[in-house]
Amino acid sequence: MTDDRSLTPFTFSVGKARITVFCDGTLVAPVGSLYRLGSDQPTPEKFPDAPGELSVNAFLVETDGRKIMIDTGSGAFFGPDHGKLPIAFEELGVSTDGIDDIILTHIHADHSGGLVADGKPVFKNAKLHIGKTEAAFWLADGAADAPHATEKVKGQIGRAHAAIDPYETENRVTLFEDNGDILPGFSASLRAGHTPGHLTIRFENNGETIAFVGDIVHGDSVQFANPAITIDFDYDQPRAATARAAAFTQAADEGYLIAATHLPFPGVGHIRRDGDHYRFEAYRK
Ligand SMILES: [Zn+2]
Repeated sequence: MTDDRSLTPFTFSVGKARITVFCDGTLVAPVGSLYRLGSDQPTPEKFPDAPGELSVNAFLVETDGRKIMIDTGSGAFFGPDHGKLPIAFEELGVSTDGIDDIILTHIHADHSGGLVADGKPVFKNAKLHIGKTEAAFWLADGAADAPHATEKVKGQIGRAHAAIDPYETENRVTLFEDNGDILPGFSASLRAGHTPGHLTIRFENNGETIAFVGDIVHGDSVQFANPAITIDFDYDQPRAATARAAAFTQAADEGYLIAATHLPFPGVGHIRRDGDHYRFEAYRK
């Protein structure tokens, strides 16, 4: 892989729908030292086996003649290792103008940054669907002046506006209930903690289910072995751990596929119980 090429997109089916996973880029970070145990302090263990990078995946669902994106990658917000989604689209012969809808799991810039290039919408015809709590937290008037708005949060609010405002200006943003229906086949469940309005987006078609779990997990080993372990990026560490445990339990019990932004590309597979913890089983066609 060279800098100007994307990984080959990964395509599979859920019911009669076709899903394509894109790697928008790679977040290079000492992931092992970013893990936490319910607090803002690093865990004593640095997890030397943890990855040195996290994939940034984005997802396209083609169903009933419509094209729906789940998240959009980082765009230009995180440097040259990111923003490969448009190249992958081009290689696949998919036009960004042909995307009908975009649903965000949350508004962090590695999920919403791909919405814009040079301050303009990349997706010229798509409706943008955002959960109510998530939209209010990052985009409400005065959000940056709230008592909880640290410098880090203020920076994230600025990037949220940069990604979303061009769509808002064109009246293309629709808000949905945190635990409600979004589009035919798509529904949301609030899994708050990573961000205050962080969601799982569930898609059902012809008796099959996949859950787009956003940032419920970072990496494919440490947090499956112990879901109580959080990561520096989580806004509310204890709540993120609770949300992860609930998401893992449900996915293991119901046996549906999950698709995660920061699992190794393509980030699709099953969550299995393994004694008193879990493991990730990557999807194989
Ligand atoms: Zn993320």
